[in-house]
Amino acid sequence: MIQITEGLALIPGRDDMIPDSHVYVVGYPDSGDLTLVDAGLMGKGGYKVEMLKAASIPLENIKRIILTHTHLDHIGCLNELREMIGSCELWVHQIEADALEKGDDRTVYGMDMFKQMCQMQYRIPDDAFTLSVDRKLQDGEALSIGGMTWEVIHVPGHSAGGIALYSSDLQTLIPGDVVYADYAIGRFDLFGADGPELKNSLLKLSPLDVKILLPGHNQVVKNLAPGYIAQTARQWGPYLT
Ligand SMILES: [Zn+2]
Ligand SMILES: [Zn+2]
Repeated sequence: MIQITEGLALIPGRDDMIPDSHVYVVGYPDSGDLTLVDAGLMGKGGYKVEMLKAASIPLENIKRIILTHTHLDHIGCLNELREMIGSCELWVHQIEADALEKGDDRTVYGMDMFKQMCQMQYRIPDDAFTLSVDRKLQDGEALSIGGMTWEVIHVPGHSAGGIALYSSDLQTLIPGDVVYADYAIGRFDLFGADGPELKNSLLKLSPLDVKILLPGHNQVVKNLAPGYIAQTARQWGPYLT
């Protein structure tokens, strides 16, 4: 586990044939109220729990898992994690929460061909992602968790119910797969994705004061250049039509 700043730590994803998302551990340790942001790929829960234990984090302090979105590389090991951690809540944006509750896994797999491949490869039963969601998040909500305040920002485009979490106090943005380091952005060809919406989401994030960028994959950025997201939106704009 890598400490980013007080109350923010990273468990790096361990990519397989398919990427495994990073998990962020959010909340001041003495609050006793910790959140995991994202879970990761199938079979990638065990080492994450080992890392939490190695960092002397009492598993009962993990009160919830918030998913930035429900792609397989973020939700795949959710069930494993919850079994190992014990009772912790699941918070997801309303749109993808409703899909999970209906057993609609089109967002999870992104495309039919991929679903068949993954179900065979990882022996995933059909109802693996029919889940009840404890809290359905909405754009603009402020979450008071772990002694911090995080704003929920709905950022569709990579997936229909994707969210970013933003703390103005910590100047920190957790954007899921919407924007990465090196001016990269998430793909916009999967089920529920949309290029122009992704562009709007980047523009929506552009005015935020962000020093620390904690994306779903690849590099974490601790000293983000001012105007970085606006610049990313400008660079990608011509492709997001
Ligand atoms: Zn994704
Ligand atoms: Zn991802």
